[in-house]
Amino acid sequence: QVRVRFAPSPTGPLHIGGVRTALFNYLFAKKHNGTFVLRIEDTDQNRYVEGAEQYIIDALNWCNIPFDEGPGKNEKFGPYRQSERKELYKQYAEQLIASGNAYYAFDTSEELDYHRTDHESNGKTFIYNWHNRLKLSNSLALTEDQVKAKLDAGDDFVIRFKSPQDQTLHLKDIIRGDIKIDTNVLDDKVLFKSDGMPTYHLANIVDDHLMEITHVIRGEEWLPSLALHYQLYTAFGWDKPQFAHLPLILKPTGKGKLSKRDGDKLGFPVFPLEWNPEFGDTAKGYKEEGYFAEAVVNFLAFLGWNPGTEQEMFTLDQLIAAFDLDRVNKAGARFDPDKIKWFNHHYMQEQSNETLAETFQKNHKELATIDVNYIALVVGLVKERATFVNDFWDLSSYFFVAPKSYDEKASKKAFKEDTKSIMTEVLAVVSNITDFEVEPLQKEVKGWITAKEIGFGKVMMPLRLALVGALQGPDVFDIMFMIGKNESIKRIEKLIE
Ligand code: GLU
Repeated sequence: QVRVRFAPSPTGPLHIGGVRTALFNYLFAKKHNGTFVLRIEDTDQNRYVEGAEQYIIDALNWCNIPFDEGPGKNEKFGPYRQSERKELYKQYAEQLIASGNAYYAFDTSEELDYHRTDHESNGKTFIYNWHNRLKLSNSLALTEDQVKAKLDAGDDFVIRFKSPQDQTLHLKDIIRGDIKIDTNVLDDKVLFKSDGMPTYHLANIVDDHLMEITHVIRGEEWLPSLALHYQLYTAFGWDKPQFAHLPLILKPTGKGKLSKRDGDKLGFPVFPLEWNPEFGDTAKGYKEEGYFAEAVVNFLAFLGWNPGTEQEMFTLDQLIAAFDLDRVNKAGARFDPDKIKWFNHHYMQEQSNETLAETFQKNHKELATIDVNYIALVVGLVKERATFVNDFWDLSSYFFVAPKSYDEKASKKAFKEDTKSIMTEVLAVVSNITDFEVEPLQKEVKGWITAKEIGFGKVMMPLRLALVGALQGPDVFDIMFMIGKNESIKRIEKLIE
């Protein structure tokens, strides 16, 4: 039974990289008929941000990758907020002390700073491990009575993991293969603090064990913690899950890690949903900017994974079928904001005109009283040139309202000395057409142009200008048919008045 978890800390809105981690966990779980767990890692009270947990849940739901188990849902391994599991962790820290794998340390931050600077001034890095342990204030350096006295007096303490000397650890990662680590470079990491709170490392391992997690899929930034996590499993005598560390997400330039600021600079969101505007420009969200969740998900799937074929467009179900951790790369994945637009454009083409028309109508009060079937026809004519539903109005407003003005450049090009007299005659031709459909329109107008031996441009350009206000848009006769005879006549009259 595959069980994976997404374990964000509620310290702010979920970055797009976090959504990618959630997605890969989701895809892996669904592929193996497993369970996708959401666990909220909120042990660091200083970094806790109100509303962040709800944001995470909303974001997963918007992306259509909801969790199976988590806060408020199928709580069989709950609670799923670490702050609510607080009581649990202490006994595990104590268990490690009893088995000789951890110890109390009483060093103040001044003392630690002193040692750090002292080492640095000699060109060395200070590592809190067997090498320095005995010079410091901890239960391995103090007598049993001294330790007891400090604990009884309520002195601040931490519980540290006792990292072994001269060992080579053999770690395994599904994506990175075998990794060797020399324990002499490892710090004795803090597991538990006297405020009663575990650190990330202890809580994370204890919970992964108790929640029966089989695969830990997370970002590359956690790779340096893997050695400690391995040792913790060994110290507890627990089976390890399998690990997969996903590649970094790189800036659009390909150099360095993608950050919130990159979005501001280039004008693209780095969050799935909009967040509190106090956060600055970076608060923008893909949802509110008009992206389809399917496009965002499809794009994110390709950040570090590929199917090994040329296929780029995937539905969520197709992603589930195709996904495999073996096809996830080690190398960083470049974040290309144009590519996500490309996906959006393609998703748009696959949507029905009716569905798009409904959204379009909702966004524009000018369309409130217009028949949605008419709007759908318009959408069908312009969507090929649109990336967002928000582009529709600029591309198609002339189907709903007459142009208020004519584009200056277009006017210069289309409106010549003889235009007025030519268009007066065209107006008569158009007014005489009773069967106002695309084909008769085309036949009559084009026939008249040929008979008169006037260049096509001399008629078609001003006609387009009259109807659209610019020299763009679909076929002129399609437009006339759509807006109808009366409106077509009105617009031609307006041009020559
Ligand atoms: N709480 C960690 C985070 O914020 C979880 C890391 C992990 O998945 O082990 O990403």
